[in-house]
Amino acid sequence: MTIDKRILRKDSLEKLFNILRENNRTIFAPVEHNGKISFKASGSFSSVATDYIQTTQSSKEAAFPRTEKILDYTKTRDNINASPFDHNQIPEVVIWGVRPCDAMGIAELSAIFNWDLKDEIYNQRLAKTTVIGFSCMKADESCFCTSVGGNPGNTEGSDILLTRMGEGGDLIAEIITDKGAAIVSFAGELFQKSEEGQKEKYLADVPVKFNRDEIRKKLDKYFESDIWVKQSLRCIGCGACAYVCPTCACFDIQDEIHGKSGSRVRCWDSCGFSQFTIHTSGHNPREVQSQRWRQRIMHKFSYMPERLDVYGCTGCGRCSRACPVDMNILEHLTSIQEVTL
Ligand code: SF4
Ligand code: SF4
Repeated sequence: MTIDKRILRKDSLEKLFNILRENNRTIFAPVEHNGKISFKASGSFSSVATDYIQTTQSSKEAAFPRTEKILDYTKTRDNINASPFDHNQIPEVVIWGVRPCDAMGIAELSAIFNWDLKDEIYNQRLAKTTVIGFSCMKADESCFCTSVGGNPGNTEGSDILLTRMGEGGDLIAEIITDKGAAIVSFAGELFQKSEEGQKEKYLADVPVKFNRDEIRKKLDKYFESDIWVKQSLRCIGCGACAYVCPTCACFDIQDEIHGKSGSRVRCWDSCGFSQFTIHTSGHNPREVQSQRWRQRIMHKFSYMPERLDVYGCTGCGRCSRACPVDMNILEHLTSIQEVTL
């Protein structure tokens, strides 16, 4: 689909938000709480945060919730009756204010959830999700989207991408997909035709720091390198980096049992946790933290491109901002590029 460029006047943004709600969309928008900005179901435009470089949590929860019931069951004397997940309960969702690095992460997450088995629940949620992206006018030292194939005005993954023309200005609206066009169809008067539309001068400057293809080639030879020990000495295996990441997809399946009935629940997990790979026998193939850190980098920069033809990192910088012991993925990736074996 050819990208249709329009102008959205600054005072039309609230009208668009309200029209979406009137059309039965659940809006997940960045909301500030206790100094952190996260995507929450938001009922009013006034609650939506505007001054943020990046949200603390990514927007992946819209299609891949932190915990999700996938079936209920009841045991009888001879049988187990299961009620599978009811797809009709999935709401039409708009994720509002998604940064281009998160939007790009949707393709990476989707590649994982459609690799061997097609994950129906994930795909149904995504099918009912529309992404309204907001280009980045500011970046910080943790951002590195331009080193991993993105940029602050990247349209990939957004259904509509909005770019502010300067602080407090009107917005360039790029209508990218049919889902975006569907929104314009019921809020058409807000999206004005215009000859304006060069967004580049309004975008944040994010210098390129490394070449991901070079890193991928190096990783082929680095499996046994001591770089993993050196880099991970501080890592306490808390899993925060995976929980905030827009592309991390590890999950666990747990049963919550109440007498003869129960629920099967999918919950986020992390390859950084010490028990993530432990076998029933007690053997753990990744028994020390350096092996887990290696797995994180290898998976994102070697295994995923090899198996799924996508990288597993969008350069959002969240893992560096969230890490309690200041592990900085950008510094570590840059050092991998610089080191020679
Ligand atoms: S957030 Fe930091 S300390 Fe926690 S697992 Fe990730 S790298 Fe290790
Ligand atoms: S690995 Fe870190 S920088 Fe890369 S996408 Fe995940 S949270 Fe963002």
